[in-house]
Amino acid sequence: MRKPQDWGQPCPNADCSHYRLMNRGNVSAISTYLTQSGKRRIFLCSKCKRPFSETRDTVFFDLKTPEEKIIMALKMLLVKVALSDIGFVLGVTEATVLEWLRRAAQKAEEINVHLLRELPVTQVQLDEMWNFIRRKHAQQAGPDGESSERSADGRQWVWISFAPEYRLILAACVGPRTFASAVQLIQLTAAVVLGVPCFFSDGFSCYLAALIEVYHTLKTFPRTGKPGRPKQPVKEPHPDLVYGQVVKKKSQGRLQALVYRVRCGATRFEKLGLSISTSVLERLNLTLRHALAPLVRKGGSFCKDRTQMRRRVVFFQAFYNFARPHMSLRVPLSEPESPASGLIQPKWRHRTPGMAAGLTDHVWTFRELLTAKFEPIHTKRRRVREAGLLPPPALRTGRESFPSSGSSISKAV
Ligand SMILES: [Zn+2]
Repeated sequence: MRKPQDWGQPCPNADCSHYRLMNRGNVSAISTYLTQSGKRRIFLCSKCKRPFSETRDTVFFDLKTPEEKIIMALKMLLVKVALSDIGFVLGVTEATVLEWLRRAAQKAEEINVHLLRELPVTQVQLDEMWNFIRRKHAQQAGPDGESSERSADGRQWVWISFAPEYRLILAACVGPRTFASAVQLIQLTAAVVLGVPCFFSDGFSCYLAALIEVYHTLKTFPRTGKPGRPKQPVKEPHPDLVYGQVVKKKSQGRLQALVYRVRCGATRFEKLGLSISTSVLERLNLTLRHALAPLVRKGGSFCKDRTQMRRRVVFFQAFYNFARPHMSLRVPLSEPESPASGLIQPKWRHRTPGMAAGLTDHVWTFRELLTAKFEPIHTKRRRVREAGLLPPPALRTGRESFPSSGSSISKAV
């Protein structure tokens, strides 16, 4: 029998003293009810005396459709099935599928916020993948067909930052191929990693400036005493910043050579003994193109809306990090302790990027992706610290400790 402590259900009542707190012994199961998806539990919070259903704050809340159908639709969105086809197969409208996607993306965002934090990542690969929304050229576009920041159509790129050591997607966003988008990607990345990792990318010219925009020290100039406006402080690359590029030299569409360049922090780069590579991320691009229908080249099912594309990408990110075992992360099992009764002996322990990075201990089920619940971050940290598992903030390495070394990292997320 599970103890009430273990239900993993937080009280959803905002007025309750135990609002969203987990495993405090205030929630107990009081009854069950039958739905098309089977039995569901009703819980009661002993603090506010309010009952709530187990689907509260999950993708399934208040939906009459059987869970299996919703799960099937969302799975199809991740295996290149076009929206109209999903609607046809399941007998629902496209708008319904998009509403399920909206909820799933919201949950995925919550999972990312709670689990992708203070990651001890040594290197980050950055890339942007070409994609278009509604039409290949924006109506008000530059000569290259690039859409502007506010434009809802035209060329849009899926921007991804990736930690190759864990195969983990750190951040993903959708936007035009501009400096502002590059800054956004690096800010999102800086918000989830510890310290300053080494960055690698292709030859896109905006990354260096975008990296300095996020990771910099301000150089100030002493007053000269002379009349006139004092010299403005300038941004210098953070002393720990390392940035390398792999530039593809192409002629007539064919790859001729790869040129490696360290654009920033060459000394630290050599000391760390790293090599510049973006190949792991480029393999991920292929995985993405095989997963999301709008990203299929020369396909007809392109996205009609940037928001929908963002939702698909953020949902894919959570799925990829936590629910999809990665072939290259599997570890061989030692001799089976107790031979399984069947003919096939498992040889591998499958792992997800989230497991490799130590963020979770198991491969998540698809349902977990849609129903995971978390405590607010600040209360969780306080509890862990009280339990002596986390050193006080001053002792920790990471972004918080940087200002003391006379430098600053702007974090405008
Ligand atoms: Zn309560």
